[in-house]
Amino acid sequence: MSTVSNYRALLSAFCLLSSLLAPPVLAGEEVNIYSARKEDLIKPLLDDFSKQTGVTVNLVTGKEEALLQRLQSEGANTPADVLLTSDAGRLAAAQQAGVLQAVKSEALAARIPASYRDPAGYWYGLSVRARPIVYAKERVKPAELSTYEDLAAPKWKGKICVRSSDSVYNQSLVAGLISHHGEAKTETWAKGLVANFAHPPKGGDRDQIKAVAAGECDLTLVNTYYLGGMVNAQDAAEKQAAAQVAVFWPNQKTTGVHVNISGAGVTAHARHRDSAVRLLEFLAGDSAQRWYADVNAEYPVNPAIPPSVTLKAWGEFKADTVNVAKLGELNAAAVRVMDRAGWK
Ligand code: FE
Repeated sequence: MSTVSNYRALLSAFCLLSSLLAPPVLAGEEVNIYSARKEDLIKPLLDDFSKQTGVTVNLVTGKEEALLQRLQSEGANTPADVLLTSDAGRLAAAQQAGVLQAVKSEALAARIPASYRDPAGYWYGLSVRARPIVYAKERVKPAELSTYEDLAAPKWKGKICVRSSDSVYNQSLVAGLISHHGEAKTETWAKGLVANFAHPPKGGDRDQIKAVAAGECDLTLVNTYYLGGMVNAQDAAEKQAAAQVAVFWPNQKTTGVHVNISGAGVTAHARHRDSAVRLLEFLAGDSAQRWYADVNAEYPVNPAIPPSVTLKAWGEFKADTVNVAKLGELNAAAVRVMDRAGWK
């Protein structure tokens, strides 16, 4: 067989296979989402979108890495039109893997500040997640706190709880510091921070807050929505733990509080591209933005939307204006730095 007929045979086998694997064609419009966000944090918004537009939304929820791998292995046969994740680093990884496409939309550009979206339009931030210092009200005075950089000072020896370096939230925070100070200085900082750990990292963000409340350590770094979840929890113990800590916004005179985003991009092989863009525009719109703030204690990306009651109680803050795309670019450097610093 010649190369050409070989190729044709292969192609027809491939077409047969992909028609077998392809999702059924439905009447009416639809959009298919791969989402790494918890279903109850996104489903009500999607139902709203369907109600308003008549577009059917199909949601597949999974872990970040698994969804990215799935998009890569499905290639052009993927049913997914939109990838939703909860970290800029993950979106940058998806972009680098070639599974997203650039989207231009006036509505998205108007609703989302430039630092919260990819400069080329491969992904857009939909909610802002701030990672400030949370401290024990009993044992720390806010006047003792100032910056992330200061957490490496010897005065905090044995007083800090932080989750492990596997956490993409910490990787992004370190990437932010590298963007301001370079790798070498950030490594020195990370070594100082690790020397101040009360114990080796364990548990998630909520566990760090509980450890501070229990007196295992005096301060930690967490995303505010975890604290928001505890403040508004049904569970009395969680509520009580939350009442013993307070938020401190670091770096207000310097680079600003480290922020990350949850966001989404349209997949490279989206079959329902228009509906996918429409969905992104909806998620950046007023009602969806308010929902993010009210229900999940995240900050709206859209600056026109006021924060919820829970968020207001923590006060206003200046956020770091480094483009969150940079956090993805510097992720590998951040992991290196944390590793060399002995951050488990
Ligand atoms: Fe989270």
